[in-house]
Amino acid sequence: MSDPLPPTAVPAAPPRAPGFDTRQIHAGATPDPVHGSRIPPIHLTAGYVFDSPQQAADRFSGDVDGFSYTRLGNPTSADVERRLADLDGGTDAILLSSGAAAVTVALLALLGAGDHLVTTRRLYQGTVNLFTENFARCGIEVEFVDDPDDPADWARRIRPTTRALFCEPVPNPTNEIVDIAALAEIAHSRGIPLVVDNTLATPYLLRPLEWGADVVVHSASKFLTGQGAALSGVVVTGDRFDWGARPELFPHLTSPALSLRGRSFVQVHGRGALAAYAREVVAGRLGATVSPFHAFLLRQGLETLSLRMQRHSLSALAVARWLDAHPAVLSVDHPGLRRHPHHALAQRYLPAGQASVFTVTLAGGAAAAAATIGALQVFSHMTHIGDVRSLVLHPASTTHGLLDPDAQRELGIHPGTLRLSVGLEDPADLIADLATALDAAASTGASGIPAAAALADLVPLTEEISA
Ligand SMILES: *Cc1c(COP(=O)(O)O)cnc(C)c1O
Repeated sequence: MSDPLPPTAVPAAPPRAPGFDTRQIHAGATPDPVHGSRIPPIHLTAGYVFDSPQQAADRFSGDVDGFSYTRLGNPTSADVERRLADLDGGTDAILLSSGAAAVTVALLALLGAGDHLVTTRRLYQGTVNLFTENFARCGIEVEFVDDPDDPADWARRIRPTTRALFCEPVPNPTNEIVDIAALAEIAHSRGIPLVVDNTLATPYLLRPLEWGADVVVHSASKFLTGQGAALSGVVVTGDRFDWGARPELFPHLTSPALSLRGRSFVQVHGRGALAAYAREVVAGRLGATVSPFHAFLLRQGLETLSLRMQRHSLSALAVARWLDAHPAVLSVDHPGLRRHPHHALAQRYLPAGQASVFTVTLAGGAAAAAATIGALQVFSHMTHIGDVRSLVLHPASTTHGLLDPDAQRELGIHPGTLRLSVGLEDPADLIADLATALDAAASTGASGIPAAAALADLVPLTEEISA
């Protein structure tokens, strides 16, 4: 037992870090020093005037901080980068033109020809295509685990040339939550980093760096901006991974670099080496630069992120529960539902809410799915997620349309599957819209007894759910 305090001593209040709601509004913002605008201005400019030839030379050499050209940095984007790094608990953030650019930049900062990446097929399909077509042509080998739920499967695939593990902690669209703490442990035991795409959860619901991930990417086009108006993406890094610990793994970070006049990124930037390399050597050269206007829209969106994610999560769970009890519905893959196979992992990793993208599979198959989409009024039929508006899409014929039926089924995509992204409308209106649309589908005969073939397709799915 500790000694009682002497009666005159008043314990100092412990230093308190501001909460998420405060930081999403204030972190990183620098009010305009010229006019005092409370909202920092949109610096819509290609370049920046140099005061002198010496200043120009210093900025080019990187010896002095400052902006020279917007492809390499912009004050509006820099504000938002500071806020995003703060919200994710990271040390650096690089804002890019899209989520696809963020995935590409993060991974090309780690991997080159001859390197190997271990991942899962439970990914955004654009990322799968990036891996199997573009990366393959560049000599980067990507290997997919058979059972993403089995950490031993991931561990078994790691080879001497493996440079990272990659996953989506909340996979789009079927929500098989990944045990990222287990994956981080496996990666670190082999000296490599864990990279995750956290688009569906956002830093409000899940901060992967706190669970051991080393690099986080987001499509900011989705919940982070929230309005469905502008694309952008971000790479966030922490400072726990030592890029120089095994110099043979990341020689581009540990050997002399031309742009650093013979010093290495690790010598100059320490644990910030990967972020500096990603910004200067990869993003700056590939040119996937975010528009300062889109950065501004992202910053405006971030200021209400927590409120929106709470409401998205509550509404989506209400809609999922309602659908789960509907006779035309075979299954709902929302991880907040008790019978979802990843419910326990969702409780561990997403206690504040499970966001709002999930799939619902209709007993009537493709015909029921089409009739339902056709009858929905409040839901917009489009590809996009994380919008204030509710959205619906038929994955089997769109996002997953390049896959054969077996590959689709393995990913939980069936002919009757719809992907929903539940927005911020009144949830009662969303449920009423779905009720009317499912009735309309039934009246066309589409949602009755499923065809024998469709039923056979779904047996493994229903068995899994009732287990
Ligand atoms: C949308 C999305 C992307 C791609 O982002 P864009 O901003 O559309 O380029 C990447 N990963 C996930 C999980 C996504 O949902």
